[in-house]
Amino acid sequence: MFDLETLIRPNIRAMRPYSSARDEFAGAAQVMLDANENSLGSAGPEVFNRYPDPQQRAVKAALAPLKGLDPAQIFLGNGSDEAIDLLVRLSCRPGQDSVLLVPPTYGMYEVAANLNDVAVERVPLTPDFELDEAALVSIGHSAARLVFLCSPNNPSGNLFAPAAIERVLGTFRGLVVLDEAYADFAAAPSWTTRLAEFPNLVVLQTFSKAWGLAALRLGMAFASAELIAYLNKIKPPYNISETTQRHALAALADAPRFAALRAQLVTSRQQLAADLSQLALVERVFPSDTNFLLVRFRPDATAVYAYLLTRGIVVRNRTTQAGCAGCLRLTVGTEMENQLLLAALAALELASTTAVTREASISTSPAA
Ligand SMILES: *Cc1c(COP(=O)(O)O)cnc(C)c1O
Repeated sequence: MFDLETLIRPNIRAMRPYSSARDEFAGAAQVMLDANENSLGSAGPEVFNRYPDPQQRAVKAALAPLKGLDPAQIFLGNGSDEAIDLLVRLSCRPGQDSVLLVPPTYGMYEVAANLNDVAVERVPLTPDFELDEAALVSIGHSAARLVFLCSPNNPSGNLFAPAAIERVLGTFRGLVVLDEAYADFAAAPSWTTRLAEFPNLVVLQTFSKAWGLAALRLGMAFASAELIAYLNKIKPPYNISETTQRHALAALADAPRFAALRAQLVTSRQQLAADLSQLALVERVFPSDTNFLLVRFRPDATAVYAYLLTRGIVVRNRTTQAGCAGCLRLTVGTEMENQLLLAALAALELASTTAVTREASISTSPAA
């Protein structure tokens, strides 16, 4: 039987959280002299002299019906990266406990572990970036306090099979953190719909991708109310700024724009994948349920990466990541950006076939 309390660091269970002025009084009083704010006003054109709501009640109230959850099951972080860090800190004792990763995956999990002096165990994905039987058995035997599964996975782009995730949820003894940063682009329901079945499940989502709000820094964690209460206990009191809360509310009220952005990116991804696979330089375009494509180039992905830079096109070189030899990660851009990328790759291909043909003709031409 899953017991959350045994996975919470004892010092965190025992500590009393910081209680901010706005925790103790959140209403609109006539005279607010409790928080050492500047009652006179703000420098700059806009008024920001009051601390924001530390519990982000309005944003959570708008988000809860969208996700089919209770506001008490929602944590908001300064990006998902804050939630990742807090989850490691919540469950892992520095110098003692470990987290489990399934590489290749998102780099921040390891950074959060290193920052907190928490060891990293690794169980690799298959060459097709799946969790196979051997991996599932290892995960079931692990004594790590936390496993990070990213589905759809960054950098590979694929969703894990629901049966594999269910196996991890049923066998792993720690918390299962399912990072769904890209779930909005996937043709599968979110695991938020299964939270009631799995008290060990934490689902992460973000406003940085499909919502198009990366600059705001707003991430979400969904879990049992008990686990969310612990995250709230250890977060910095005012972790979500007033600007971010206001913009998030406006974005949530603009669902049609969200749906349109998401649909456009999915269509563009399919087109870009089809176009890329026509190129001789491209050995493989991996299947993607995200807004990016992992692409294996031949003969030399790093040369392709360097060439694209000379054309002012920046992509992500993933060649040194586990299982990603020869691979670049390409974010789906605007129609124009995708065309520029394809045109640059076609030009490189033409230049290299010309060079190869010239070499061939030199080596076969009779000595003069
Ligand atoms: C982009 C991304 C995030 C989002 O992080 P934020 O801090 O919310 O911007 C989270 N997880 C993965 C795997 C990502 O690729």
